[in-house]
Amino acid sequence: MSKEYIFTTPDGGKTMYRNTVGDDNKERIGNKSSEPIGDKKTALVMGAGGFIGSHMVKRLRKEGYWVRGVDLKWPEFADTQADDFIIGDLRDPKVVKDVMSLTDMWDKVGFDEVYQFAADMGGAGYIFTGENDADVMHNSGLINLNVVTECVITKVKKVFYSSSACMYPAYNQEDPDNPNCEEKSAYPAAPDSEYGWEKLFSERLYKAFERNYGLNVRIARFHNIFGPEGTWDGGKEKAPAAMCRKAILSKDGGDMEVWGDGQQTRSFLFIDECIEAVRRLMESSYTEPVNIGSEEMIAIQDFAQMAIDISGKDVEIYNIHGQEFEKKYGFPTPVGVKGRNSDNRLFREKIGWEPSKPLIEGMKETYEWIESQVKDGEK
Ligand code: NAD
Repeated sequence: MSKEYIFTTPDGGKTMYRNTVGDDNKERIGNKSSEPIGDKKTALVMGAGGFIGSHMVKRLRKEGYWVRGVDLKWPEFADTQADDFIIGDLRDPKVVKDVMSLTDMWDKVGFDEVYQFAADMGGAGYIFTGENDADVMHNSGLINLNVVTECVITKVKKVFYSSSACMYPAYNQEDPDNPNCEEKSAYPAAPDSEYGWEKLFSERLYKAFERNYGLNVRIARFHNIFGPEGTWDGGKEKAPAAMCRKAILSKDGGDMEVWGDGQQTRSFLFIDECIEAVRRLMESSYTEPVNIGSEEMIAIQDFAQMAIDISGKDVEIYNIHGQEFEKKYGFPTPVGVKGRNSDNRLFREKIGWEPSKPLIEGMKETYEWIESQVKDGEK
């Protein structure tokens, strides 16, 4: 039998501790809470050491929830604000069982809400090269299979699953000026990456558990979320962070590399608006998959120029593709589909809200944050 956690200590949740859990007496390191749960709503955030998960923890705490976070790693850029944080691998069903078991003093209370953000993912350089396909499908698939089962066993009241616009069929995203990402265009399915196929599989998995076991689910298809405290280097970063970093590191009068011809289009949603949208979706009664993204579509070339303009430097864009790219990086240019934009009609209709922050404002905030990270790294 696993040992249960006890959450009452006087240290404000700051102290690291070691807790023996599971049949194998494996040690895990966590954050310890001084807060009894009492009559607070409870939430479990999976992937709480990652970008969106760590922002969600902050938001839920602000709203008065008692929050447990779980991840393979601590948040990289700021201390977690979770009441309790567990380092654990969600591919292991025993770990999932442990983290989903919640007691207040000696009473089993269970979670009101679960937010499932944990996934093996990264930007184009991770998802679209083909080199990580097996890991992406295996790791994220296992996490979702474990989580959905345990949500039913522990009678979680509501579970949020983070899908992705990468599940949309490639054939509807050939025209950079006119992509179709309407929710009902998902089938016949033809995602352009295994990452997208796993997301589609897991959407269907959560929906099947809804039909057969009465699980109460909410599913969002995220379209490129960005902002401060997201990965900005190392290969798993996404386009907004990569553009900012490259512009910051470019020399005045020099050039800045952009992968592909830059004609492909995308839209990008600022993190605060993503979190707002998820919370509104959770509070709503809408249970079908719905887009969460921005409708402000931009060509990658113009997006790169936006980062350069923010830098105030005189920098030329250098488009690298074809053989030159392959020779330098060892894999074909990973540009993804030609066009993608969020279609927010369904979200507007069902949830009655839409994001409004202009892309340039979110980019300026992200640029400033990455610049401070670069400066910190130089010290
Ligand atoms: P992220 O990589 O920053 O966060 C994911 C977290 O999951 C990481 O901290 C990682 O350590 C954790 N994780 C991975 N494997 C784990 C395991 N076996 N056990 C425990 N934790 C594990 O990504 P993010 O940008 O915060 O994305 C959150 C979710 O939203 C993901 O499911 C992602 O696929 C989805 N999504 C994100 C975007 C985006 O633009 N950021 C777009 C579409 C979909």
